[in-house]
Amino acid sequence: MEKYEKLEKVGEGTYGKVYRAKDKATGQLVALKKTRLEMDEEGIPPTALREISLLKMLSHSLYIVRLLCVEHIDKNGKPILYLVFEYLDTDLKKFIDSHRKGPNARPLPPPLIQSFLYQLCKGVAHCHSHGVLHRDLKPQNLLVDKEKGILKIADLGLGRAFTVPMKSYTHEIVTLWYRAPEVLLGSTHYSTAVDMWSVGCIFAEMVRRQALFPGDSEFQQLLYIFRLVGTPTDKQWPGVTSLRDWHVYPQWEPQNLASAVPALGPDGVDLLANMLKFDPADRISAKAALDHPYFDSLDKSQF
Ligand code: AMP
Repeated sequence: MEKYEKLEKVGEGTYGKVYRAKDKATGQLVALKKTRLEMDEEGIPPTALREISLLKMLSHSLYIVRLLCVEHIDKNGKPILYLVFEYLDTDLKKFIDSHRKGPNARPLPPPLIQSFLYQLCKGVAHCHSHGVLHRDLKPQNLLVDKEKGILKIADLGLGRAFTVPMKSYTHEIVTLWYRAPEVLLGSTHYSTAVDMWSVGCIFAEMVRRQALFPGDSEFQQLLYIFRLVGTPTDKQWPGVTSLRDWHVYPQWEPQNLASAVPALGPDGVDLLANMLKFDPADRISAKAALDHPYFDSLDKSQF
């Protein structure tokens, strides 16, 4: 690790701290992520190695944060793995916050929202085409290069062989705001559609500059969703009332989605509505989203 000059802590993810650092040889800024992999006498568990090689493969996309290398060090006889990523100056949560309060408080420019959403769908389509679900897409996990207007997906896959944990390593509650209804209702066979629900929530949040469904418990989260999109029925979403955590909920009628995102035009509202479809089988895929009329006015040649 002498190769890097550690600068400062830039964030805390679900799995550990992230530091900004400088590669002493090249001067390149990097993000160092210490992984909390449980290593046994046999060394790094093969599941972790598989995830890292997957991450390395996926990160060849322009829309995924590039994994530059993996450093394996020995700290007092304890092996530690550092992942070295390209560094981006901010994340979408901080970016939206800076547009909500302070001297730069103003809406995000609509062409920027369109471009960020397109890049996000590109990255998600790339993961899905390799059979990888992200499962925890949220503004904190989307890194932004402000100058270049680039957005990239971070925090892919590592350590979540089966489920997203309830609490982070610092016991912070993992946010539920972007979680798809089928996950909240305890469905165990979920698909790529879970990521598209999160993309819809992130899209709305860029427009509103505040979260669409800011629930603080699984139950509250569902109520937020049902109040806007309507309480789902078996007709609309076959099998919903048989899901493990289904209860009897107040019967809400769907609200006009446009009223939740007043600054968004009809094409944007239509795309959002397709991302927020209850039945995962009806929800738009990342690949199909890229061809939606909302993106017709975007200069796609730059991607
Ligand atoms: P993560 O564990 O990937 O969710 O990262 C937690 C936080 O660390 C993010 O919300 C970012 O603010 C920051 N971060 C993570 N990766 C990078 C990176 N490659 N460049 C800059 N900041 C990062």
